[in-house]
Amino acid sequence: MQKSFLHRPLFTAVPILIFSLSSCTTVPETGRSQLRLISPEQEMQLGLTEFEKLKQSTPVSRDADQKAMLERVGKRIAVVAPLAGAQWEFVLFDEPKVPNAFCLPGGKVGVYSGILPITRDEAGLATVIGHEVAHAVARHGAERVSEALLLESGAKAVDAVLTSQGPQWRGAVLGAYGVGSNYGVVLPHSRRQELEADHLGLLYMARAGYDPRESVAFWQRFSAYQGKGEGPAFEFLSTHPLDETRIRALQEQMPQALAEYEKSRLRR
Ligand SMILES: [Zn+2]
Repeated sequence: MQKSFLHRPLFTAVPILIFSLSSCTTVPETGRSQLRLISPEQEMQLGLTEFEKLKQSTPVSRDADQKAMLERVGKRIAVVAPLAGAQWEFVLFDEPKVPNAFCLPGGKVGVYSGILPITRDEAGLATVIGHEVAHAVARHGAERVSEALLLESGAKAVDAVLTSQGPQWRGAVLGAYGVGSNYGVVLPHSRRQELEADHLGLLYMARAGYDPRESVAFWQRFSAYQGKGEGPAFEFLSTHPLDETRIRALQEQMPQALAEYEKSRLRR
């Protein structure tokens, strides 16, 4: 898929009204309304299919301890994350140079081993998984692609593109969930979606019994790693910029998250 697909200027009148109310829904918990032209079923089918392909094409880790840790943390997040119809699966890919993670629609979570030195412990990993699962719960990929399709194609073409389920929108959805490099697409999350995923992810980790304050520590380690400037600009790094806004928002939400943490039955 060409990057320009998502970045071309608007050149026709956009027939927004055609999509009417059925295309606008709200994100759980934050209540923000969003445009979604792709159905949950379409998106989930895409996630399930593409995850199988990824498992074929990417080496899976054989480190039993690290895999067990991912299972433990993932299952605790899954208990509290309202991802309808999820068929949860947590796979650790053996890619020590790739500090990345994603959650595809359908509850398919991929973690690349290169992020484990930065997550460091279970709470750090819970920060990343909580954040990625939040992108899926809030259906951020569907939202990004819906907006892009509408700009690109207008009403009639949107329908044609979705019906054909061509590589164009497959790559775009995957890119929007953070696995785009496998498909030649890097699609940064919007600032708004990042902050929303942080907020929801913070609540999920707290409800799963992980100290939410560890999220700030993770992002600071992550920033230090990024600051070292080693290697190329990795996808996770470029799509998750650390800045004052991110930390400040987390700190503002911390009292709510700590209250959830205190009453979590999963806390140990
Ligand atoms: Zn993100």
